[in-house]
Amino acid sequence: MTFAAVSSAVVIGLSGHPVRVEVSLSPGPRGLHLTGLPDTTTAGVRDRVRAAILNSGYDWPQEEVTVAVLPSDMPVYGSTLDVAIAVAILAAHGAISLERLTHTAFLGELGLDGSIRQVRGLPCAVRSLITSGIRRVAIPLGNVGQDIRCAVIGATSLTELVEQLNSDAPSTVPTALDPAQGAPLDLTDLPGNHAARHALEVCAAGGHHLLLIGDGPATMLAERLPGILPALDDASLAEVTKIYALTESRWRGRRPPLCEPHYTNTAAAIFGRHTAGQFRPGAVSLAHAGVLFLDQAPEYPRSVLDGLRIPLETGEIVLASWQGTFILPARFQLLLATSPCPCSGGNACQCRPVERRRYLQRLSSLRDGIEVAAPIDPIDRNAGPGEPSSAVADRVAAARDRTAHRLAGTPWRTNAQIPASELRTRYRLDPDALDPPESRLRAGALTPSALTRMLRLAWTLADLRAAHHPTRDDTQRALRLWQGKPA
Ligand SMILES: [Zn+2]
Repeated sequence: MTFAAVSSAVVIGLSGHPVRVEVSLSPGPRGLHLTGLPDTTTAGVRDRVRAAILNSGYDWPQEEVTVAVLPSDMPVYGSTLDVAIAVAILAAHGAISLERLTHTAFLGELGLDGSIRQVRGLPCAVRSLITSGIRRVAIPLGNVGQDIRCAVIGATSLTELVEQLNSDAPSTVPTALDPAQGAPLDLTDLPGNHAARHALEVCAAGGHHLLLIGDGPATMLAERLPGILPALDDASLAEVTKIYALTESRWRGRRPPLCEPHYTNTAAAIFGRHTAGQFRPGAVSLAHAGVLFLDQAPEYPRSVLDGLRIPLETGEIVLASWQGTFILPARFQLLLATSPCPCSGGNACQCRPVERRRYLQRLSSLRDGIEVAAPIDPIDRNAGPGEPSSAVADRVAAARDRTAHRLAGTPWRTNAQIPASELRTRYRLDPDALDPPESRLRAGALTPSALTRMLRLAWTLADLRAAHHPTRDDTQRALRLWQGKPA
């Protein structure tokens, strides 16, 4: 490989601006040429990057190294791009596999010894990158813990960063959003997307699982789900606190956790592992009593997608080692997001229908367990501000109160938890309401377990409109929500 491009960002004033750093190796005198950078910064960058790469024990390319920062009219100040430039050079030179760099951005200043130093204004830079579609940032370890709302690789040196990138289990640090860090994100920032917002509300009210399909702001929606869910009750808070006590982080506050593992994470990172004599909770347990969000869901390994069925059915995960077994709670709301096709090309997409079908079929093992599907569209800035989270949270709380009243004296708290046997007896719908899903079942268009899920969803729709019983209209709307059609 003689070419590599990586993402980074610069901070100008109080706002971040994404940039692309390109590196090309071509025959010619050995040396480093930088274009698109002001002369005053060029010399400093060149010295730091070259010294850091050599002092970290990597070879310097034999060819002429050309580095370009795009857009080229971006005034660049400071040293935030050092790490991105070094990573791009190492990738072009073959020391890092290019596929490890997708959807990842690099920020940080290099010391001559290869250390990675903290930079100022990092949260602004990260926010601009998330808006541009970046899903993971590699940042100086000293900046971890700031208000950064995406998957993070923290590193203290270039060597450590390269090792993490090349390892099969990148130590994607937090994945879970600590609610004590900063105010909750609000749905007002998310104009348009009515179908997806409605689906989010229904799922919050009933504890249902959700699949978002489209090229839209899925991460923004996922991050706003904890803000409309009820606060953790004492029992859930105690469980969450115990789970987090097994990690380096502590859980503070009562907002439900959101855990967002990356698709490059290993199955061990998702389900938990036994390492150095200790059981480490995986993403499924870090999401307990909250939300597990898988963006680009079809990209996750089959072992992960299939393995999720166990915690989805049992609400727990069993970790085994030679020292014995250990059971951790893992009852979460699953939120999957996917592009409609493998290329994510939007309007430029040329995927054939068969390719699109095959892509979505990768989720088939989970599809039966997901009650609601919704289209998600790119943000429409002309749509005006969205309804605030507080108004949605009020409706969710009112619906949950009705559910709790009905389920009083049972072990279940949400409609999603009502067992099938109870839906056939104590919570049986009248024949007119049962007819739409049951005729689908008879026609073979619905599995028995999907029918159960439609009934649970119909109860939630009834609770949301403060009705005593689901009607035929509720079961029909439940079917449409399941199919991803407007309800
Ligand atoms: Zn496509």
